[in-house]
Amino acid sequence: MSIRENLLNIKATLPSQVTLVAVSKTKPVSDLMQAYEAGQRVFGENKIQEMTEKCELMPKDIEWHMIGHIQSNKVKYMAPYVRLIHGVDSLKLLEEINKQAQKNNRVINCLLQIHIAEEETKFGLNEEELSDLLQSETFKNLRNIKIVGLMGMATFTENQTQIKKEFQHLKSIFDKNQQPTTHNRQLTTLSMGMSGDYQLAIECGSTMVRIGSSIFGGR
Ligand SMILES: *Cc1c(COP(=O)(O)O)cnc(C)c1O
Repeated sequence: MSIRENLLNIKATLPSQVTLVAVSKTKPVSDLMQAYEAGQRVFGENKIQEMTEKCELMPKDIEWHMIGHIQSNKVKYMAPYVRLIHGVDSLKLLEEINKQAQKNNRVINCLLQIHIAEEETKFGLNEEELSDLLQSETFKNLRNIKIVGLMGMATFTENQTQIKKEFQHLKSIFDKNQQPTTHNRQLTTLSMGMSGDYQLAIECGSTMVRIGSSIFGGR
């Protein structure tokens, strides 16, 4: 099937409150343009240089989401245009995003990444680190970032029961941290679910799915 067909088939199954991020990492601009022409406007990349190159070559009404792990020294390259940063997992990184956003005279929306998987390798905060971050004075004083939700990745396994448990855990953390709503904190987005597990993620309350290979094919 074509990229267009894949995309339209997936979109047809998504509830209206769920945003689809088309994960286009490693794929050429010609592939992304097929998705664009089929109506897709939100794209996710995991490398800043690749995302910036694609941003320069593609139409300006695209929303670029950074979904990968970020090094502080690279934040400046995406600060002028990035629409949402999914993988923020430290206060230090958040301070750097705030600094670069300020230089660009804007507020950058961010998701805090929560570690929900069993694997040690996946990045993210645990529940205690999340509440420490949200309660710190440093965070409360950041004016050029806004935490608009949480992001997480389930364990890479066939075990649906385990994946479901992890997604439910993330949803419960999301629900618990709804209040207070402040100038830089308003949790409305729950980014969970990829090609293999997005239906389950939606059942568990996801509002944003990040789908790559089911749209663009394997990498
Ligand atoms: C690559 C990637 C995805 C998409 O994965 P697929 O299995 O190809 O859908 C989603 N989220 C993150 C963080 C990724 O790095």
